[in-house]
Amino acid sequence: MMKRPISLALSALTLTASLAHAQEEALPQAPSNEKLIELQTTQGMKRAMEKILNIESEWGIFDKFKPNRCKYAIQVPDSVTRGTIALTFDDGPNPDTTPLILDVLKAHNAKGTFFILGSKIKGNEAILRRMVAEGHQLANHSYSHPNFHELSSSRMNSEIKTTDRLLRTVGTPRFFRYPYGNSTCSSNELVSSLGYVNVGWDIDTCDWAFADGQVSDKENATCQAPQHLRRDYAGYVANVVAQTQGGVLLMHDIHKNTAHSLDRLMTMLEQDGYRFVSLTDRNIFPKLNRR
Ligand SMILES: [Zn+2]
Repeated sequence: MMKRPISLALSALTLTASLAHAQEEALPQAPSNEKLIELQTTQGMKRAMEKILNIESEWGIFDKFKPNRCKYAIQVPDSVTRGTIALTFDDGPNPDTTPLILDVLKAHNAKGTFFILGSKIKGNEAILRRMVAEGHQLANHSYSHPNFHELSSSRMNSEIKTTDRLLRTVGTPRFFRYPYGNSTCSSNELVSSLGYVNVGWDIDTCDWAFADGQVSDKENATCQAPQHLRRDYAGYVANVVAQTQGGVLLMHDIHKNTAHSLDRLMTMLEQDGYRFVSLTDRNIFPKLNRR
């Protein structure tokens, strides 16, 4: 008599487990570096165009009527503290370039935040453990780097939750960043309901455009590097930082040029008087650290 309910319960359990497994299996891998650069170029140009076409209201009273209201959650919800720089690295880990970046951060005694892709974790767990041991923040950047403007709510959910589960085997992630900075109103609600604080950036360092050493004409529609800096990533970033006096810098720990230029860039910024801070610094980023 009891046998049937037990076996039913067991098969229900097996079914739930295999469904959960199937959901993870269904998530694709992150695009290749070349594909990512292409997508970043397209998204950057699209965002720049929409910014021009979107009439900005000085008082913000028309904000709720704007069609793009929740579309690009890329702003950091704290104003820039002059003279401070928070270094953030997206799309890794990468076994060749991420350790080089960790070496440079260590040499400069700086703590960074790594926005990690779930699909890149397998086989690179030791790199994540090193990040935590050396005082860096592990953060969530989705599983496969999709465009959140095009996702169903269940896919959004599994993109964030699968990566969350993987990150929690090593550390305690608190921050989430959208691939391409592309958000929606409902994804913003999902991110905060999962206990994450959404973090954008103040400066896109355009390291993706400098990945092969120099910025192309197409990429420069987004990056607007002056002619004399189109082959000089560190010089370009120092020049942009001088205009904003600091802020949250967006970089990618998957590009060789980023890893090889970082020491020179950090030295230049130190010489210009900047101090490197962590996103977890409550004095610099009170709104990011409310909880
Ligand atoms: Zn990314």
